[in-house]
Amino acid sequence: MNVYILELNKSKKYYIIKTDNIEDSIKKYKNYNIEFIKDNQGINKYTKSELNIDINLKEKYEIITNMIKYGYNNVRGDFIEYLNMENYLKIKKEITEDKNLEDLCYKINNNWIIELDNKILQEKQKIENTVCFNCGRKGHYAGKCKEKYNIDGIYIENYINNIEQKNIYYSKS
Ligand SMILES: [Zn+2]
Repeated sequence: MNVYILELNKSKKYYIIKTDNIEDSIKKYKNYNIEFIKDNQGINKYTKSELNIDINLKEKYEIITNMIKYGYNNVRGDFIEYLNMENYLKIKKEITEDKNLEDLCYKINNNWIIELDNKILQEKQKIENTVCFNCGRKGHYAGKCKEKYNIDGIYIENYINNIEQKNIYYSKS
């Protein structure tokens, strides 16, 4: 088992994976149609992680440090597949609870915490401005809607369960 950094064809875009067979994984990834890889024109090449740490920490370390190095929008992986409030908070928690990881982040970018807090603030504002498509009210996504009636007073049938969980951006309220 090792961790690899896939360099995508679009410059400065990376995908981090953990696998015991990189060639196999790349073949699979071509079939699975991972959106981030597809959007960035596929895999150009890969490099093995050079971090000299426990294998169980490697994937997390690679994705977080590469996000700080290249920008959050430029890096994805199985550990963080998309960016939303919950995942930004997860990143912050992972860093601040691990002294070694925190030190590494400060070495890469002294301002990482300010930049990450800005991302969290942006997500907060996005949620505040969002209009729930379930009830029509502002301030929450449909996945977190607790309303029984929409803004016109019409009873909302419970169709939330039918929505694919993955596509919903949750807010931390
Ligand atoms: Zn609602």
